Amino acid sequence: MPETGVAPGEVMLPGPRKTRGTMKAAVFVEKDRIVLEEKPIPSIGPTDALLRVTLTTICGTDVHILKGEYPVARGLTIGHEPVGVIEELGAAVTGYRIGQRVIVGAITPCGQCYACLGGHPSQCGGKAIGGWRFGNTIDGCQAEYVCVPNAMANLAPIPDGLTDEQVLMCPDIMSTGFSGAESGHVRIGDTVAIFAQGPIGLCVTVGAKLSGAAQIFAVDTLPQRLAMARSLGAHVLINAGQQDPVQTILERTSGRGVDVAIEALGRQETFESCLRVLRPGGTLSSLGVYSGKLGLPVDAFAAGLGDHTIVTTLCPGGKERMRRLMSILASGRTDLRPLVTHRFQLDQIETAYDLFANQRDGVLKVAITP
Ligand SMILES: [Zn+2]
Ligand SMILES: [Zn+2]
Repeated sequence: MPETGVAPGEVMLPGPRKTRGTMKAAVFVEKDRIVLEEKPIPSIGPTDALLRVTLTTICGTDVHILKGEYPVARGLTIGHEPVGVIEELGAAVTGYRIGQRVIVGAITPCGQCYACLGGHPSQCGGKAIGGWRFGNTIDGCQAEYVCVPNAMANLAPIPDGLTDEQVLMCPDIMSTGFSGAESGHVRIGDTVAIFAQGPIGLCVTVGAKLSGAAQIFAVDTLPQRLAMARSLGAHVLINAGQQDPVQTILERTSGRGVDVAIEALGRQETFESCLRVLRPGGTLSSLGVYSGKLGLPVDAFAAGLGDHTIVTTLCPGGKERMRRLMSILASGRTDLRPLVTHRFQLDQIETAYDLFANQRDGVLKVAITP
């Protein structure tokens, strides 16, 4: 039996907590107000685990919540990217031990329902986006503690030798970004265009490179993000503020277009540009979160006769996905630490939101330590 785990089937009964006490948590109050509050430490059920959060981060989606563009309940703890230590295990949870270092994906599938078992765990429960619970339908992890639902499907032990900061990108942006390349079925030798090089788009760049893309076009308007894209594997950098990305990509591919175009922003303009650079028979892999209406220009869509494939993906979660992502980091095939540009204590999270939401000081991702 490995020293780091508890054999499957062996039940480790949780010791009852003496006092539950309170904790600090970043809570959604109303539009433009996410504040740090004292809340009770969560109670757990038989299939849950209580995680003491040791590191977390803020996501672009949290900013949508802050701005009132994505409604969540007042009083909900925000955050869906936890790194931590198991503090308490539900009575029915086996195979783990108290004190174990783990991460949990942003998406926490149950592992039991027809959507999970049918291969779409992000849509757990058969409801669109149903797998996204943390900081959406249940309390999230921008807090000292978080209750992890369906613990046995979701707790992913961190390999020895990887630090909290090394694995901080796994729960969301690495999983989401890589899925953009995976869902687009990027193949060895493919030409790929990635629209937007924010944290997710940069992870798409890494995913496309690891998938064997021969040529990667990275599009953004911020020079520092394009420079980061270069260091992570992009071949051609296009500043969309200075040149027309569609024209440039078509020229650089001799009018052929790209095999896979990946949308990582969630805007009409970038979605449309993806279609316009796609070769007939190519795949548009969409990761962005759109609002309002999304139009399909029929000229770029070859009137619907271009053999195009359009795929969408919500961040894959669950412990096996997390294990695979951490194994890539452990093997040294990529290192996403450069994406963490700023570090804050949980006490300073309101300042961190302000910096992140306003994209100041070249921020990519912030690390928050409870
Ligand atoms: Zn997120
Ligand atoms: Zn499920």
